[in-house]
Amino acid sequence: MAPRDQAGQAGKAARGRLAPSPTGPLHLGNAAALLLAWLSLRSSDGTLVYRTEDLDGGRVVPGMADQQRRELEWLGLDWDEDDTVGGSHGPYLQSLRGQRYEAALRRLDAAGLLFPCALSRRDLAGIASAGSAAGDSAAAGYPARLRPDHSEPGWLERILSGEDRDNSVRLRVQNEVMNFDDLVLGPHGDNPALGSGDFVLRRRDSLFAYQLAVVVDDIEMGITEVVRGADLLGSTAGQLQLWHALSDREPSWAHLPLLLNDSGVKLSKRDGGLELASLREAGVSPERLVGWLAGALGLRPSAAACRPAELLKDFSLRCLVRHNISVTNAAMDELRAVS
Ligand code: GLU
Repeated sequence: MAPRDQAGQAGKAARGRLAPSPTGPLHLGNAAALLLAWLSLRSSDGTLVYRTEDLDGGRVVPGMADQQRRELEWLGLDWDEDDTVGGSHGPYLQSLRGQRYEAALRRLDAAGLLFPCALSRRDLAGIASAGSAAGDSAAAGYPARLRPDHSEPGWLERILSGEDRDNSVRLRVQNEVMNFDDLVLGPHGDNPALGSGDFVLRRRDSLFAYQLAVVVDDIEMGITEVVRGADLLGSTAGQLQLWHALSDREPSWAHLPLLLNDSGVKLSKRDGGLELASLREAGVSPERLVGWLAGALGLRPSAAACRPAELLKDFSLRCLVRHNISVTNAAMDELRAVS
């Protein structure tokens, strides 16, 4: 196989992306990941794309996309292309990119990589637990042995037109270890056939899956570096198989340490008070917040207040701490107190 064009190797300008989902206010964990994606791209002479991942209309909060953008501007981040300033790779809202996802599905189908599936998650969990002696249904990936032997001609078009509402579309995942050199974690390999199995690309309720949309968008928007939280590390091998099926290049990958709450769980919308909006209301300045993040992430020896641009000199993802970061109530109280 010809060597793949990897980011940076062909001397092409870097293109990175900020890709928040407008499903709730940004919290400290989102801010850490977006700050690092910004630093990584801005420390090279590249272009930063802002993509709104609003695929799942039922979970999108009205007005949240604008609110998130204002929060990031307050933090001191900027970008070059989005749905308001424009750019040559739009539209930048996933909700407007459905035809591109359909075109990608047709290409994958022409390559024999797709099949229809009427099983629900619950069906799969039942099959998994029936097949395991321990009755353990925790890992209910789609096993290759359930694939249909053949699919009726025209099956994909019937799904895409809405005529068939009983089937989702799944990818035939290859039983192969996918290796990549993560810019934070170092060399990493995963076999998606042993994890997710044949994952869904279009759901029965007609939503395109995140896994499909993110790869199609990153390919078509010319993205050369994907910088995101380590919670998505388990998706990368499957996404790499999609990259290989749809493109002759692949991006560089960086999976970032996560911010954990007092109970050791990844920060989420449920951790009230740690949203950028509430920290701002509590009087925390963006400089204090960025300084605290820089100290916690290992970018600076202390948590002294600073602007994102002050972190650009000598920035390297390789300098990041390798462990997840506990956000204790005490640390946050201190942040609020001294701002
Ligand atoms: N929209 C996703 C999120 O907010 C990011 C997806 C990605 O970076 O691949 O977590």
